[in-house]
Amino acid sequence: MKDFKSLGLAEPLLASLRQANYAAPTPIQAKVIPLVIEGSDLLAIAQTGTGKTAAFALPVLHRLAKDRRAAPHGGCRVLVLAPTRELAAQIGESFRVYGRHLGFAVATIFGGVSPRPPRQALARGVDVLVATPGRLIDHIRAGDAKLDKTEILVIDEADQMLDLGFVRDMRRIVSELPLRRQTLFFSATMPAAVSRIAAAFLNSPKRVSAAPIGTTADRISQRVIHVRGDRKRACLDELIAANNGARTLIFTRTKRGADKVAQHLATSGLRVAAIHGNKSQNQRERILKAFRNAAIDILIATDIAARGIDIDGIQHVINYELPDVPEAYVHRIGRTARAGASGHATSLCGSSERRQLREIEKLTRQTIKSEVHTEGVSETGTLTAQAAQPAPGKPAPKTKQAATGKSGSNGHWWERATPKAQRGKSAPHGRRRSARATAP
Ligand code: AMP
Repeated sequence: MKDFKSLGLAEPLLASLRQANYAAPTPIQAKVIPLVIEGSDLLAIAQTGTGKTAAFALPVLHRLAKDRRAAPHGGCRVLVLAPTRELAAQIGESFRVYGRHLGFAVATIFGGVSPRPPRQALARGVDVLVATPGRLIDHIRAGDAKLDKTEILVIDEADQMLDLGFVRDMRRIVSELPLRRQTLFFSATMPAAVSRIAAAFLNSPKRVSAAPIGTTADRISQRVIHVRGDRKRACLDELIAANNGARTLIFTRTKRGADKVAQHLATSGLRVAAIHGNKSQNQRERILKAFRNAAIDILIATDIAARGIDIDGIQHVINYELPDVPEAYVHRIGRTARAGASGHATSLCGSSERRQLREIEKLTRQTIKSEVHTEGVSETGTLTAQAAQPAPGKPAPKTKQAATGKSGSNGHWWERATPKAQRGKSAPHGRRRSARATAP
């Protein structure tokens, strides 16, 4: 197995890695670091949790250290673009941690905070600038940021950047950069639109990937629970009760949904908080810190707010609703099983979400183990197996519907597994009590 020294990194970086207790490079680091050191452009497919931030930050810092020169006034030597403020802040922090013995100036630019500190830092000149595209454009327009001396451009989470509609901003920013530069391009997935952008920005790139396109991390055990929409809360209560206080991240599709789930769980006395785009930067940082410090056990998030959240020890990711874009599933479940740990991902799939599930399975090239939620229990097995052998006391499915999984006028057969009389009621008392028992 390679070690960091054999990858050619300078001693001050090796010292930081010892302090960070990184024993050996991750696979993506072993591939990427030598290529960046030799000056190649790079097209990398890597998901969060693979160690990709260090994969670019370490060799970039190495290159800056090998060719020391003053940072340009009003500009930067290295520009890193990231889709969200949380991710930009984390990348900036990684550069500071890995570069702690090198004395480089690192600045971050993102919305929701005062533009004055980055403006002042830029005036002095920064070695590494980490920015979200929108706010960087504001600085360019205001004349604070001049990028014509930038030596290295890193684009992180390019697919998310496109999803968030940053493509024009990215093109505008890249047009400000010199043509002679090194460009490193990272994306968790590589749909055609991302490939096109990569082709426009990169010059004869070397290609690497940490995992095949769209595959989900091996260490995550995944399952999907088919559950009627109005039983999702009860199903969630059961999952949380069975969690034994595990650190859990719950995804919802909308901000309102995140608040509603948070309110629901809080009434059981659980330590929860929701994070989404309507929260101020201060609130978001406070909530993330509380989750990191285990002051709260359950975080409910929307896709955008959760992007780039780097918190070790998330044991369980629950998709309360399936995402509209299948790639988001890969990002979501990648929040668990980070840095070598293992984790669980459970997705609640209502009858209206079958299409999303099919697309996720197509993208990840797997059939996710499925269960059918009935009152208080989840019965393991595929839908077809369930259909062939209905649980005792449950109505037998109509053969055609069961075999095809298509709904008749009364809805899907698995939705009718719950006796009518019990519909709309909360989870069994024993379950509810145990949900409370996990509360502090
Ligand atoms: P990333 O994929 O960049 O979001 O990194 C995921 C996590 O892995 C972060 O918490 C890093 O601090 C950690 N990490 C990165 N590289 C290593 C390594 N070589 N050894 C141990 N942990 C690492």
